[in-house]
Formats: sequence, C-alpha cells, structure tokens
Amino acid sequence: MVCMEAITRRYRVGGQVIAALDGVSFTVPQGQFTAIVGPSGSGKSTLLNMLGCLDRPDSGRYLLDGVDVSTFDDERASDFRNRRIGFVFQSFHLLPRLSVLENALLPRRFLRGPDEGLERRAHELLERMGLQRHLLHRPGQLSGGQMQRVAIARALLMRPALLLADEPTGNLDSKSAADVLALLAEVHAAGQTVVLVTHDPDVAAQAQRQIGIRDGRIEFDAAA
Ligand code: ADP
Ligand code: MG
Repeated sequence: MVCMEAITRRYRVGGQVIAALDGVSFTVPQGQFTAIVGPSGSGKSTLLNMLGCLDRPDSGRYLLDGVDVSTFDDERASDFRNRRIGFVFQSFHLLPRLSVLENALLPRRFLRGPDEGLERRAHELLERMGLQRHLLHRPGQLSGGQMQRVAIARALLMRPALLLADEPTGNLDSKSAADVLALLAEVHAAGQTVVLVTHDPDVAAQAQRQIGIRDGRIEFDAAA
C-alpha cells in the first residue's frame, strides 16, 4: 500500500544542509494502523508531507497504492491527493463559514468528473460520527472533539487509500482525545489504512505498529 524506499529530503538553511529525512525506508500493508512517533524536529512533518504527496523527495522512491507518486508534477499530485488521501490535522482546518455538512463535502469542490453520490456518503459518515443533529451548524458551534469528527468524515469522503492524521488529538481534552482515537480505531477496523503522526508515545501506543523516528532516520519499528 505505502512503500517508501530510501527517501531523503534536505533543507538548506544559511550555509548548512539539514537532512530532515535521511534514507527512510518502510512499507505499510493495506489495512494497517501505523503510528510514526518522534520528538520535535525529528522529521515527522516532513515525512507526513511526503506521505501526503505535498512534497517530493530529493532522492528515493515513494509508491502509494502501486503508483510511483515521487515523480508527479503539482497538478497530478493534487488530483491524486484529493482522491486517494484523507488528511486529519491537529487544528481541524474546517472552514468557519460553511456548515458541518458543507465542510464534510469539501473534497467534492475539487473533483473533476461525476459526483459519485458524495452527498449521501457525507450524510452516512456524519451519522457514523454521531453528528446527525449538527449538519447545519457551523464549526464554531461545536466542541473540539466534534470538530475533529467532522474533519474525519471529510477525510473519509472520497474513500481514500490512505488516511493520514497529524497529531489529531493535540488540541483536545483527554476525554475527546480518547473518543477521537477510538473513532480512528473503528475506521481502521472497518478496513481503512491509517498512518498517524505524533510526538506522544501514549497516542502512538493506540496503533498496531509504532515507527520511531529521530534525526530523520528510523530509530525503531515495532508491533504493539
Ligand atoms: P517534526 O515535525 O518532527 O518536528 P520537521 O519535519 O518539522 O520535524 O523538521 C525536521 C528537521 O527539518 C528540523 O531540523 C527542521 O528544522 C528542518 N526543517 C523542516 N522544515 C524546514 C524548512 N521548510 N526549511 C528548513 N528546515 C526545515
Ligand atoms: Mg512537526
């Protein structure tokens, strides 16, 4: 499903070159729930951007769903991203002027081609997230946990090959955080491939597998 081969990404800062990713290789089979865990500055965001086709490696190869995406130009990358990758962010990234339902339907706006029954799917997902009574509310009328559930519904709308979550519980109280992690586990149990990125070992422990990263290199790779 996910196959990273010797991925390197360097940044030039002043006169220095920093390897944010320094030869990272791993695979994630379809249906696995994996956590990438590491301290601040270890390369998590760089790796997540790579996994999400938001960035290209300086060297190495990245295959997603059998497709070599490391060579895509921006337009192909963004179309692929919209269809095949769902994103959940720490700060939710909902649009405040849109309703819950409109937020969940956001990927439809970038779709070229037929709608594929997305409105019905958005209703089903929001119901599954326990939000059926909030469809017409604005994000500002919801709790943090509810907002993150809207974001998860939006991320799943297009039936992505890969669901990526970047510190999805970072802005939540412990009860809402536990709810969101339980929801991700449920989504995984229904067959979704999930990769979660976190600095928090307790959050990472909720996944099936933990990949530790430090200084741009894989430090450990362990099943829970
Ligand atoms: P994390 O998300 O684990 O905190 P990052 O992937 O953000 O780590 O950063 C990894 C390393 O790459 C750090 O040393 C950081 O300073 C550097 N880095 C990240 N993004 C940039 C950038 N846009 N320009 C220069 N250096 C960067
Ligand atoms: Mg980061």
